[in-house]
Formats: sequence, structure tokens, C-alpha cells
Amino acid sequence: MPENSIVSLARLLRSSRRSVFFGGAGVSTESGIPDFRSTGGLYNQQWRYPPETILSHTFFLRQTEEFFRFYRQKMLFPNARPNPAHEALAALEKMGILSAVITQNIDGLHQAAGSQHVIELHGSVHRNHCTRCHRFHSMEEILHGEGISHCACGGVIKPDVVLYEEQLPPDAIEEAVDAIAKADLMIIGGTSLAVYPAAGFAADYQGTLVIINRSPTPLDRKADLLIDQPIGKTFAAVMHLLQEEETTNS
Ligand code: NAD
Repeated sequence: MPENSIVSLARLLRSSRRSVFFGGAGVSTESGIPDFRSTGGLYNQQWRYPPETILSHTFFLRQTEEFFRFYRQKMLFPNARPNPAHEALAALEKMGILSAVITQNIDGLHQAAGSQHVIELHGSVHRNHCTRCHRFHSMEEILHGEGISHCACGGVIKPDVVLYEEQLPPDAIEEAVDAIAKADLMIIGGTSLAVYPAAGFAADYQGTLVIINRSPTPLDRKADLLIDQPIGKTFAAVMHLLQEEETTNS
């Protein structure tokens, strides 16, 4: 882990009063959930249709059984646990440094780590609703079902995840734009910044910018600090440093 980067990130966090974190699938790879675009990611695995097709609204309506087969196998990770990146972000919120986590992830691991203000741009696998009577269904019900998941009323259950061709939730957009506008530091991590409109919110930010990502992103040129290391290990090292400083100062 490059020590200068860790020291610089710790310094930026210490002097910030309203940071935001903007993240994606790479935040959860160290929890064992594959991302989309890394070599081991979903886009490089074999399936009958490309993920953009299977995870589209049209596919959900027309080939619902195949959608559920893919969804259960590739999108649900009931045993995944938060890693040091999720834990650090929750701790930074408690310390009054971080105002919001804006995530493209659907896995609920930020909440599992204890983050309170999590803005989910693409929904969550933990919420599912009947398309007919709108009753709530848990992830476990979907996971342990077979074929198309149905509600007791006979309606098809749809996961509250934003599929291709669907709009982002307006409340989440508004909250994300507001949190970014008020931030004095933005940390972008674990995202290729290839999925729009979500990536557009990050691109509009004008303040101090840190990017922690294992591969290049379109915003690298704008970054004040660029760290191409695993995000969990990076945050573990930063938190260790911040805690050490706190002990020395008390
Ligand atoms: P992506 O797959 O396009 O990009 C992930 C990025 O993270 C890559 O650039 C990769 O180099 C980087 N990365 C991977 N592991 C990393 C690590 N340990 N440390 C630092 N960087 C790491 O993902 P995306 O940008 O989030 O966009 C794709 C879509 O994927 C999102 O809309 C999201 O909903 C969905 N998705 C979510 C999950 C999840 O909830 N965990 C998993 C897969 C896909």
C-alpha cells in the first residue's frame, strides 16, 4: 500500500466536514461479490444473453423465468458480509466526517456495516414487491423460490432493482445531487463510471476529488488524489492511521 496516498487521504478526511462517498460494484468485490467489468466480473462470464439484455425491463417482462434463473445465481449473495471499506465509511459517518454514501450497489452491505445515510441509486435486492398487489417480499423468498417468483395473490414479484430501460428513483437522484452539491470532499471508489445517468452526478462535482479504483476511470484527470489499490485495504490502512493519531492526541 503506497504510504503517501494513505497519509494524504487521512489528511483530506481529517480536514473535511462534509464528505460524500460515491461507489459501485468494486466496493463489494472484497466481500466476495463479483463486479461487472473486472476480468472475473459478470461481463466476462458465459451466459446465453449478455447481462445488459437479461437485466433489462423488456427481458423481465418477456423471459421472466430466465431472468429469475440468472438473478438468483448471479445477483444474490446472502452470505456476503461488509468488508473494511463498508466498515470505514460507517465509522467516518459516526465521526461526523462523512455525510452520505451514494451507491450504485444493490447488495445492502453499507447498511449492514452500520451506515445510516445510504442513497441507493439502483435499488436493493432486499426489497421486492408484487407487481399486482404491491405486497413486500424478502430476498430469502426470492432466493429459495423456483422459476418465476409469485405472490400469494398470483402476481409476479419484481425486485426493486433498477433494470436497464428503467428510470432511477427520483428521490434518490434528488438526495444524491444535494449531498454532492454540499460536499467539501468526494471520494469515488470501486466504479468504472460507465453506467449513466449515475456516473453523471459524480462527473458534475467541482470540489476536492479522490478516486480509489483498480482500473482507470473517465474522471482520473480531475482527481486530486488517485489510488489504484483495493478499496478495502486502502480504507483499513487509512482508518488505522486516523485511530493512531486520535490515540496520540488524547
Ligand atoms: P463495474 O463492474 O462497471 O466497475 C467496477 C470497478 O471497480 C472497476 O473499474 C474495477 O476495476 C473496480 N474494482 C473492482 N474491485 C475493486 C477493489 N477491490 N478496489 C478498488 N476497485 C475495484 O461496476 P459499477 O461501476 O458499479 O457499474 C455497474 C453496475 O453494477 C451498477 O449499476 C451496479 O448496480 C451493478 N452491480 C452491483 C453489484 C453489487 O451490488 N455488489 C455487483 C455487480 C454489479
